[in-house]
Amino acid sequence: MDFASVAQVFDEIEGKTKRLDITADVAALFKRADKSEVKQLAYLCEGILLPQHFGVELGIGDKLAEQAIAHVSGKSVKEVEASYRKTGDIGLTAEELLSVKRQRSLAAQTLTVKKVYDNCYRIATSAGGGSQSVKVKLLAELLSNASPLEGRMIVRLVTGSMRLGVGEATIIDAWSFAEKGDKSLRVELERAFNMTSDLGLVGETFFAKGMSAIRAFKPQPFSPIRPALAERLNTAAEIFEKLGECAVEGKYDGFRLQVHLSGGRVEIYSRKQERVTHMFPDIVAGVKKQMNARELIFEGEALAFNEETGEFLPFQETITRKRKHGVSKKAEEMPLRMFAFELLYLDGKDWTNEPYSARRRKLGEIMGKGDVVALAKNIIAKNARELQKFFDECVSSGLEGIVAKDLEAPYVAGGRKFAWIKLKRSYSEKLADTIDVVIVGFYYGKGKRTEFGFGGLLTAVKADDRFRTVAKIGTGFSEVQMKEFHDSLSKLAVKQKPSDVESLLTPDVWVKPKVVVEVKADEITRSPVHKCAWKDNEGLALRFPRLVRVRTDKGADEATTEKEVVDLYELQKHASA
Ligand code: AMP
Repeated sequence: MDFASVAQVFDEIEGKTKRLDITADVAALFKRADKSEVKQLAYLCEGILLPQHFGVELGIGDKLAEQAIAHVSGKSVKEVEASYRKTGDIGLTAEELLSVKRQRSLAAQTLTVKKVYDNCYRIATSAGGGSQSVKVKLLAELLSNASPLEGRMIVRLVTGSMRLGVGEATIIDAWSFAEKGDKSLRVELERAFNMTSDLGLVGETFFAKGMSAIRAFKPQPFSPIRPALAERLNTAAEIFEKLGECAVEGKYDGFRLQVHLSGGRVEIYSRKQERVTHMFPDIVAGVKKQMNARELIFEGEALAFNEETGEFLPFQETITRKRKHGVSKKAEEMPLRMFAFELLYLDGKDWTNEPYSARRRKLGEIMGKGDVVALAKNIIAKNARELQKFFDECVSSGLEGIVAKDLEAPYVAGGRKFAWIKLKRSYSEKLADTIDVVIVGFYYGKGKRTEFGFGGLLTAVKADDRFRTVAKIGTGFSEVQMKEFHDSLSKLAVKQKPSDVESLLTPDVWVKPKVVVEVKADEITRSPVHKCAWKDNEGLALRFPRLVRVRTDKGADEATTEKEVVDLYELQKHASA
């Protein structure tokens, strides 16, 4: 198919708003296409060269595009820039300047879809020294053979600014229309897309091999499956009413990762199907060591975990692992744990259609020992009370809430269905004020922190003349502070728990309750491990405590009291009610 016809249709689509009309145009376009072009044409409609997970960026900036336009139109780069400032659209600038240039040369070739795609692909993938001028040359070659309209579309494509407004759903509908004249094939086509996140592959299969091949689609390693999403309800009772007896898992707040393994190779994809393997060398190693499978696709949430205090770190900490440089150093400093919650594919078998209970059982079976990958904690709730209790436990251990799962439901790729229902702690509970707590002990620290002899603090609030623990603090320390804490607290060390301290936890070193530190926390939660306001086997604790500073100006007597913490907790409940 020549590219001019495609550009023509794209131009018409841009002027339309009715979805039905656009679908009809796209359907007509695919009807005319040769089977061998369908894949590329599908990508062009999406304005991409390949799906996200291939990791191919379009790879040419406006500046290079301006050079190519200048070269072909005979204008100076300054003139091109001036036009771009006026149009605000580099594609329109190409169109405008190509239309005032001399006649197309006699040697101009007709551009085919294949030619445009191939050149754009080479533009995107040429790298290294001299690649800039190669890119400009390849683009100029296309433009010198292009009509002004083709030029507009080509330049938009290579600069990543093609916005036809034709979504995946419209393209899928158009294919169904092209074949059947209605939308009846949509659900099955969509399923194939959800399994592979590759519209080009689905289109190519559909037009070349028909529906039987579409129905046979199953997950494939290194083609990310579009993630299942959770619905939301407000209370444990509502969730139980909807699902009845159900599984309830902790809701971990980190990166959702889909891990693919085949032939000893591991790739990791984000929730948006980007390939992010390079950011997680520790998880790659952990998966290779722990997962007993030849071919595998599974999902989980990875987050930073403080080995010292056994607490999860807030998302703001975990996110610092997202980086391009210094990845391995950061991975050492802040190793991640991956809490696996879904098995999708194993050794040739598609597990997405199996019920949750079977998927979860199998996932446990193939997981070997190690400290990188673990199963997300879960229970089977027989009533709303059990569900609520597990929710409270999860929140007090530092999790975001729970995700309840229908025991019988398949994995709903790409869909938000009531197979998963989330219940989160309320964000209005955020604690605005800081709290001044007294240090009653400290930990030596593991890993990198052993060199400072310091890994965290055990702290308490004051209750009359007693000190009751309220938080373990593992974050917020600079290296200098760690050393200082080690030195100053060692001077206050005592052999046994001071008699006025009430604690269920035992730090590496007890200290006399003298030093006051100011901490910030997300909220106050009920907790079975802290003694502050202890009642019915539960106390109150600070969630995600972080050191703000040492209050050298305050003595232990001036620390925040237990009563103040109880008041803050009540206020918080009130605010979220
Ligand atoms: P939300 O992002 O609030 O819609 O909640 C859904 C997200 O929770 C998922 O996309 C996952 O990233 C995350 N999540 C954490 N723990 C789990 C779990 N056990 N099961 C499913 N999703 C989880």
